[in-house]
Amino acid sequence: MRSTTRDFKKYYSPDVGGAVRMDTNTNVLGSNPAAAEYLRGQDIDLNEYPVTYSDNLRRALASLYGLDMENFVVGSGSDEILDVAFKTFTEWGDDCLVPYPSYTLYDYFAQMNGGSVRHSELTEDFQLDVDDIASSGARIAIVASPNNPTGNSLRQRDMEDLLARFEGIVVVDEAYGEYSDSSMIPRVDEFDNLVVARTFSKAYAMAALRVGYAVTNRDVSDMMNSVKIPYSLNGLSEGAAIAAVRDQGFIERSKKMVAEERPRLAAGLSALGFEPFPSDSNFILARSPIGHAALTAALKERGVLIRDFGSKRRLENCVRFTVGTGEMNSELLQKIGDIVGGRR
Ligand SMILES: *Cc1c(COP(=O)(O)O)cnc(C)c1O
Repeated sequence: MRSTTRDFKKYYSPDVGGAVRMDTNTNVLGSNPAAAEYLRGQDIDLNEYPVTYSDNLRRALASLYGLDMENFVVGSGSDEILDVAFKTFTEWGDDCLVPYPSYTLYDYFAQMNGGSVRHSELTEDFQLDVDDIASSGARIAIVASPNNPTGNSLRQRDMEDLLARFEGIVVVDEAYGEYSDSSMIPRVDEFDNLVVARTFSKAYAMAALRVGYAVTNRDVSDMMNSVKIPYSLNGLSEGAAIAAVRDQGFIERSKKMVAEERPRLAAGLSALGFEPFPSDSNFILARSPIGHAALTAALKERGVLIRDFGSKRRLENCVRFTVGTGEMNSELLQKIGDIVGGRR
């Protein structure tokens, strides 16, 4: 194996076995209805390539945000978009700036593209240390807002400051942007170094179809499109994504559900002795009153998957819960009550 990728471990791949999934932060309301409806009605010519750069989806996104189609790059999941950002802007051996704690795949994309990862500690409340990042000399910085796994949005002012002071490209991963009040998308034409990444895997409830996109200025999107593998987004996924973009009612219902249920779940966890962190997303990170591994295993035995971060520095004994429907959260809290009650 290539020396830079020899130590790679394979990605999270749990044995699901019919369990309730509160571990992946997908939309608990289920399949995107407009996308599902579109797929049911399809009878397409399988012998034809999709449009090279998925222009129809780029047009639909442009109309959603009031931007131009040239502001968009679409691909097979936002993971492809992140990979393309590294491929487009980093040379072999360049430093890539990744905050800690954040999404684990950033290190992987940087290293896969020959970069060397430089971590910048987030502050006590999981905000950016702008001075540290701006003075790092890195070629690219990738930050998540809302951040995963901590759940909080990054301060807009810090990001503006960073964009002005950092010499390289700043990728802002807004995988959970639909749930947050703040976004950098309306600002993409103001900066020459801003790339916002978004996905159809979370609020849009279409993870199976693998659709993601970048929003950036026209020059940067041209550069990224020239590097991206042509046709990486298949035609069926593109069509389903267009249908989903046109049905914003589903996104509104999903946001409303999360806005109502998130404080309820946080309060329930607090009452059971957890310390939940503030969240602007559809998930909550919380410090457990009992051992993280024992909690995760006991919930799995009871048919619920959650994500365990408890062995990581700064996330000691923390686990992450996707905010469920009212019924899912009540069942979760009841199960945790049984587990915690038996161990204290
Ligand atoms: C889930 C997630 C993604 C997702 O990716 P897709 O490849 O679009 O499914 C990207 N970034 C973060 C922070 C995520 O949590």
